[in-house]
Amino acid sequence: MFKNVINLIQETYKTKNHIPLHEPQFIGNEKKYLNDCIDTTFVSSVGNYVDKAEEKLAKYTGTKYAVATTNGTSALHISLILGGVEQNNEVITQSLNFVASCNAISYCNAKPIFIDVDKETMGLSPSALKLFLENNTTIINKQCINNKTNKVIKACVPMHSYGHPCRIDKIKEICKQHYIFLIEDAAESLGSIYKDKHTGTFGKLGVISFNGNKTITAGGGGCIITDDKFLAKRAKHLTTTAKVPHKWDFNHDMIGYNYRMPNLNAALLLAQLEKINDFIDNKRDLANIYETFFSSIDIKFFKEPKDSKSNYWLNSIIFKNKQQRDQFLEETNSNKVMTRPIWTLMNKLPMFKDAECGELTNSEWLGERVVNIPSSVRL
Ligand SMILES: *Cc1c(COP(=O)(O)O)cnc(C)c1O
Repeated sequence: MFKNVINLIQETYKTKNHIPLHEPQFIGNEKKYLNDCIDTTFVSSVGNYVDKAEEKLAKYTGTKYAVATTNGTSALHISLILGGVEQNNEVITQSLNFVASCNAISYCNAKPIFIDVDKETMGLSPSALKLFLENNTTIINKQCINNKTNKVIKACVPMHSYGHPCRIDKIKEICKQHYIFLIEDAAESLGSIYKDKHTGTFGKLGVISFNGNKTITAGGGGCIITDDKFLAKRAKHLTTTAKVPHKWDFNHDMIGYNYRMPNLNAALLLAQLEKINDFIDNKRDLANIYETFFSSIDIKFFKEPKDSKSNYWLNSIIFKNKQQRDQFLEETNSNKVMTRPIWTLMNKLPMFKDAECGELTNSEWLGERVVNIPSSVRL
């Protein structure tokens, strides 16, 4: 039934072997930098590839500071702590989401509240956010109090799904009006631009992931980006066991975390960062091929939203219904073309089943219809 789609993907990747959803490409200085780490013995928590990668990340995203971490989840955890999220606080995020931000919220002993996404972006809907806050909260002493639970809604973590920017400027405005700390989960959107600004730079803090399946990889890794000098310093301190710098003494002034990116991973990341522009051009070319193809058949291709330039991390198509979607997943995966459905809604996972939710019409609609298709950089 979907032979034409399978053919197109096989032709595009010039193979009939297994085609993964997203595999990394190492075509630059990766081996050279990694060898340098081994030759100099600086493979772990000390070494200058971390500084170099952080500098390059800040420059690339147009922020003042970047703090490299062990992964995107630890970057989210630290960002929530920096946002003052503590036990019994509540944090708003989108229901249609990868589980990482909800896990990080739970590490802080806080509770997530799930709000709907926009159909055009698959990211947090500013109108749904506004509606929820207007109907359910009161501002008392510059804190946003949830009327139902009497708890403080401390932070909001919107996400740029599959690299497509959400309407982050509107979200920022709403958060500001309600004294809510904004952390942007830009884990998937390195290289994605919204209204001429890099995603992750609208919130007080932005988080990026360099997991193996992302646009570029450090093997595992993440970072926090910010323009705030104080927050950047605190992020560095918290991710490096809160050690007070000294020539020899071991002094730690608070409970810290061992979340610093090792030099080995930073070496890989630096080499990958040198190729990011080529990778994104390549991915946008692929998106064009897909867009043209799908416009000729009866399947909808998800295009970058208005005012955005997307990195097209993962290309998405939208089926008419769940049955057609499941047929497609079955046929492609049994023909060595890897495809995956969008995430299960967070409120449907056992650990978040009791969480408070807004209206989730769009999340439920997209949740049954969206499928990701192979999106790796083609050599
Ligand atoms: C990948 C990802 C993360 C987490 O990153 P890790 O580096 O895997 O911990 C967080 N949020 C989103 C949306 C992601 O896609």
